[in-house]
Amino acid sequence: MTTYLIKNARPYGEDAVDLVLRDGDIASIGENLTAPGAEVVDGTGLVLLPGLVDLHTHLREPGREDAETVESGSRAAALGGFTAVHAMANTDPVADTAGVVEQVWRLGQEAGLVDVVPVGAVTVGLAGAQLAELGAMADSAARVRVFSDDGHCVADPALMRRALEYVKALDGVVAQHAEEPRLTVGAQMHEGDRSARLGLTGWPAAAEEAIIARDVLLAQHVGARLHVCHVSTAGSVELLRWAKSRGVQVTAEVTPHHLLLTDECAEGYDPVFKVNPPLRTDVDVAAVRLGLADGTIDAVATDHAPHAVEDKECEWAMARPGMLGLEQALSVVVTTMMSPDGPGPGRLDWRAVADRMSVRPAAIGRLAGHGRPIAAGEPANLVLVDPAHRGTVDPAALASRSRNSPYAGRELPGRVVATFLRGTPTVLDGKAVK
Ligand SMILES: [Zn+2]
Repeated sequence: MTTYLIKNARPYGEDAVDLVLRDGDIASIGENLTAPGAEVVDGTGLVLLPGLVDLHTHLREPGREDAETVESGSRAAALGGFTAVHAMANTDPVADTAGVVEQVWRLGQEAGLVDVVPVGAVTVGLAGAQLAELGAMADSAARVRVFSDDGHCVADPALMRRALEYVKALDGVVAQHAEEPRLTVGAQMHEGDRSARLGLTGWPAAAEEAIIARDVLLAQHVGARLHVCHVSTAGSVELLRWAKSRGVQVTAEVTPHHLLLTDECAEGYDPVFKVNPPLRTDVDVAAVRLGLADGTIDAVATDHAPHAVEDKECEWAMARPGMLGLEQALSVVVTTMMSPDGPGPGRLDWRAVADRMSVRPAAIGRLAGHGRPIAAGEPANLVLVDPAHRGTVDPAALASRSRNSPYAGRELPGRVVATFLRGTPTVLDGKAVK
């Protein structure tokens, strides 16, 4: 196994150091290090962070390998600086048995670009009627700890309560797609003045907030862990703040697109901006940014949702909801949450970026080897970022099999230069190694 010597990198944007990566770990860290025979990586001017962890990725395999595969999605993740991604269960077949989660886990191992951590479905076939074999998935080789029917809400409160009871015993968590389905029938975009004017059926904020309110009460009653997927409204942030102040074991994520984009994007009826939950208002964007900055929202999660051309390049109402996220997530966080003048109110510094994109998501998913401090003896899951570099997003150049990036043509800061998975580079010079 090759030894790597990283010269002059700045952990968390702080003072430059050298690191030796050997046998999968950070062997040493300090000034003026040497390592005979090592490959040298020049980290001058680059920020070093722990490898990013995504709690919410759609890899589409098995079932829609035309849109993404475990391998192509893993490559996109590595290029985005990730060393672990949670693969959502809404595949075909659904990941609701030990057999399917083990298949996804094995495909991830074979690709070898990131740790692919399968999410198990809460209910059989995501149908919301009967609990899936949560224990068998937890005990499988995939060691599932995050359970979600994402794409669908576990809408039945009695079933949600039972799911919380089961995952509590497994040291797991239910990741809820908070959407009261009876309030979003036929919904196409955020419900407000703009949806009325555009003639598109609205998805009201209350449909998300009602489920979050219900679920934090259930989590408190059961004493179980709840995670809220893709928080998108100001009211949701208020509810989470309230629940956390009462000691409820609730965590939450926000997507890059909900940090950057608003429902104004729907004006041109370009379905690349159709997503579930929908892009919201300026007020909501400001609220989720503040919630992420003060820690009410624990994590950034991509909700990377690749779709084949025929499912996206069509009429708005016919298009599938979802957008790509893995390759631009860090850049969007840098542009929305970091100030060129340094940290300030409502802003993140590099340590906080590491916390929200690596440390906390790893803790929520119970991933032992990820989200660790940058220190000798720790696993060498690392990412080197060039904060000064600005690049224009070209969907044709992405590693994903799909092209539905909402950032096409946008200039964004923060280029991932190198990613290391247990001491082996998956990305070098901004390019995938394999
Ligand atoms: Zn969802």
